[in-house]
Amino acid sequence: MRISSNFDSGNIHVINAESPQDIQLSIRKDNQSTFYQWFHFKLDSQPFVSHVITIQDLAKSAYPDGWVDFQAVASYDRKEWFRVETKFDGDNLSIHHTPEFSQVYYAYFTPYSYERHLDLLAWSQLSSFCKPYHLGETLDGRDMSLLVIGEPADGKKSIWVTARQHPGETMAEWLVEGVLHRLLDEDDGLAKWLLDKAVFYVVPNMNPDGSARGHLRTNAKGVNLNREWQAPSMENSPEVFLIKQKMQETGVDMFLDVHGDEALPYNFVAGCEGNPKYNERLKNLENTFKQALLMATPEFQDIHGYEKDEPGKGNLTVAANAVGHEFDCLSYTLEMPFKDNVELPDVVFGWSPERSKQLGEDVMVAMRSVVDMLR
Ligand code: ZN
Repeated sequence: MRISSNFDSGNIHVINAESPQDIQLSIRKDNQSTFYQWFHFKLDSQPFVSHVITIQDLAKSAYPDGWVDFQAVASYDRKEWFRVETKFDGDNLSIHHTPEFSQVYYAYFTPYSYERHLDLLAWSQLSSFCKPYHLGETLDGRDMSLLVIGEPADGKKSIWVTARQHPGETMAEWLVEGVLHRLLDEDDGLAKWLLDKAVFYVVPNMNPDGSARGHLRTNAKGVNLNREWQAPSMENSPEVFLIKQKMQETGVDMFLDVHGDEALPYNFVAGCEGNPKYNERLKNLENTFKQALLMATPEFQDIHGYEKDEPGKGNLTVAANAVGHEFDCLSYTLEMPFKDNVELPDVVFGWSPERSKQLGEDVMVAMRSVVDMLR
């Protein structure tokens, strides 16, 4: 029996793997940080033998509530990831599974590899609407890539979409696939309509180093990018520095920053109500977008989510607040679940790449409701 994780976004530490009924593991912390939650490893063992795989010491993980009612994902072919029976006792997570093949992968959520990320960029540039831009390098020397979709022209709005500041939130990049599939479809009337009025600036992966390293929340240096938006630096957070610089060049009329939430089993948005210059115009834009998304899909709801910020108390180091403040624009954090949307549960797959992609397509419908009102 062997457990390995030395591959793209792999993360596990083996404590004991002698007996299939008592495999003991733990999760490596993000480099130079105290966060840990993302796991991704391969088990090589006997098929049709029952296995109990325990991941220890999770009371101190980044989001202990994330393990309550959580079911791990598993895959034999690394394409289809299904949920497996998982129990949590407050500190230890145990996966109970009888694999049908000798090799099986387990993860916190369906992984999104760096190779797939490069494939997505390569595929996108084949569209005549889309140009890829290299903005600079991450701390590990990976490309910071931006896709510009549509022709910039006077009077056109600038709409920015960023994903995976928190690299373990892979559903965010799956959602971006939905956005791109819709926007780059030449036969899609909505895409044509939107591209007539706006240019889209899409960052499919804000944190490629953390993604490849198997981090939950930080970049190569242990920096949480979503707390860097007030004063990013090339030394600590080049990912944010480079994107913010480009935003200042293009302007921003709408911003959507896509995330996954470890604990809450819902899709929801968090707005800018705590920003110092928040006003009726921004409130109206937020509500219009939200109502349109509620109409577009029952996967989205507006009852469960984060507590609203007190007026003037918004944290301006967070991307959506910082961008909304600087550009006086509609700006939302969009959160998807790691577990499932409990209002439309799927016992086999839970929340999944396919549903994330579909939500990305539906988000484009909601954008239609606000484009003409953005300025
Ligand atoms: Zn996040």
